Amino acid sequence: MKNSFRNILIALVVLVVLAVAASFWKAEKKLPNLDYSTFVAQIADDEITKVTMQDGKIEATDKFGRQFITYAPDIKTILDRLEEKNISITTRAPIPMSSPLAPLFFLMIMGVWMYLMMKQKKGGTLDKKKTEITPEKSIDVTFDDVAGIPEAKEELVEIVECLRDATKFTKLGGRIPKGVLLQGPPGTGKTLLGKAIAGEAGVPFFYMSGSDFVEMFVGVGASRVRKLFEKAKKNAPCIIFIDEIDAMGRSRGGAQAQGGQDEREQTLNALLVEMDGFKSDKTVILVAATNRPDVLDPALLRPGRFDRQVTILPPDVKGREKILQVHGENLKLCHDVDLKIVAKSTPGFTGAELANLMNESALLAARQNKDCISLDDFENAKDKILMGAERKGMVISYEEKQVTAYHEAGHALIAEILPDADPVHKITIIPRGRAMGVTMQVPLDDRHSYTREYLLARVMTLLGGRTAEEIIFNQLTTGASNDLQTATEIATKMVCEWGMSERLGPRAYVTSDQGFLGGDSAKRSYSAQTAQTIDAEINKIIEDCYQQTMILLDGKIGYLHKLAEVLLENETIDAEEVNIILKCKEIGKFNEKIMRLK
Ligand code: ADP
Ligand code: ZN
Repeated sequence: MKNSFRNILIALVVLVVLAVAASFWKAEKKLPNLDYSTFVAQIADDEITKVTMQDGKIEATDKFGRQFITYAPDIKTILDRLEEKNISITTRAPIPMSSPLAPLFFLMIMGVWMYLMMKQKKGGTLDKKKTEITPEKSIDVTFDDVAGIPEAKEELVEIVECLRDATKFTKLGGRIPKGVLLQGPPGTGKTLLGKAIAGEAGVPFFYMSGSDFVEMFVGVGASRVRKLFEKAKKNAPCIIFIDEIDAMGRSRGGAQAQGGQDEREQTLNALLVEMDGFKSDKTVILVAATNRPDVLDPALLRPGRFDRQVTILPPDVKGREKILQVHGENLKLCHDVDLKIVAKSTPGFTGAELANLMNESALLAARQNKDCISLDDFENAKDKILMGAERKGMVISYEEKQVTAYHEAGHALIAEILPDADPVHKITIIPRGRAMGVTMQVPLDDRHSYTREYLLARVMTLLGGRTAEEIIFNQLTTGASNDLQTATEIATKMVCEWGMSERLGPRAYVTSDQGFLGGDSAKRSYSAQTAQTIDAEINKIIEDCYQQTMILLDGKIGYLHKLAEVLLENETIDAEEVNIILKCKEIGKFNEKIMRLK
């Protein structure tokens, strides 16, 4: 089969060469050549009657009707001579540089395309590079590099021991675990943990992504799975790490009857067969990572397969400090930098985001030729990560700036007034990313669940921007679209997921945008009438919050002006300044209770 390929390619090349040669031959052979000085002499002797010029090439006809070709070294002088003798001149458009190459390119593209087509037809077996599965032999990541998730590490220590010495576990008749499923949001260190297991045990590490197995052509994924296990067994003991296993391990027979369904099912079946098949004398341990354990096929989670499941959540404040320490080891921090403070101000950050924060801070400090990384650099790097980079070059009119200032002041004032809202961390009207301005709130502690009051405060804070614009300028702008979207999302979840509407009660209503679980659960499980009530309840939350926001801002309009004024002047205000402007103590007095929704 391979030879026929080469033959086709060779035939193509020969064709191309012939085509190019033919085109040259055609152009050159048609007319005889004449040397330039003879040509000039003939002009002088009035023998030339007509010329056709194209670039430097001249086709000339003499008074006997004979034609020939010559090339002019300098067109200007020859033109002068021709004009002097009143010889008729025709010109042709210059030959595009690529013209002899154009068919060549065309044929080459055709050739490559045909090559790819043929390769795909063969089910990718020719695609050596992609199926070539090579393990990383010496991993230098250890458990010390993974910080802040001690529970997960504990669960995995046993796996390391199995890999080091399986007999310790098997001599009593025990079964070595085959699969470990690490589940958690992206960036929480799942891949890192997988590598650390291999590093600690000193075994080879096979890395594959679930999407590597998902191909257009039926059977390719399955054959890749078989090859992977074949290779792994040869390298046992070892670790196979499958990232984003949900790409191949989605539950079978769902309603998503798209193409590729068959292929995925076959791939998944192959994986299950391989997992069941390998014997305990070969220690091959599968570690898979996913942030969507809910979509996995239940067959994957059965005993003997991925029966160990470790959940990894974003680290708490102590964990964050440890991760920062790990990544700060090789960085030069100023003496006043306390990573505890940095950890405190980064709730919700994952390991990857903390690593990124460290790196960004180091880059910012380096850009300013500093000797060490200061707390300021951390603060700026955090702003950049959370709010996007500043867009310094953007030209904004004063009017626009004014509207933005009041908009952000509205957000901030509402957040400061409401006791349940997260305190304001920073306000800025410097455009960042796609936003004209940003009001950043940072919770005091890590939050794990939210109260109804908190959520309402959040919706009101979001509406605060637009309301302020309305009060001050009596006009609406498009700047609030993102706020409105988020506010609506929160209100929808309150009603449909969290059972926070009194009229609808503590019941979950699955809406269509949650249909990712597959067709069945995406079906609406309530009547059209209920749908109307849901809509009404969502509207009511938004409307009530809006009215309340209006009243609050109207009552504190002096503070709104003050905040906007300072913003216009300084462009950025931090928490401390907000407190000073709002005379924090005094504002504590008007901690209004949120109107309870009926
Ligand atoms: P995931 O696989 O969960 O998406 P990764 O393991 O790829 O996340 O994490 C990306 C990077 O983030 C790691 O290479 C590491 O630098 C950093 N990181 C994530 N979690 C931790 C952690 N717990 N301790 C130290 N570094 C971490
Ligand atoms: Zn806004």
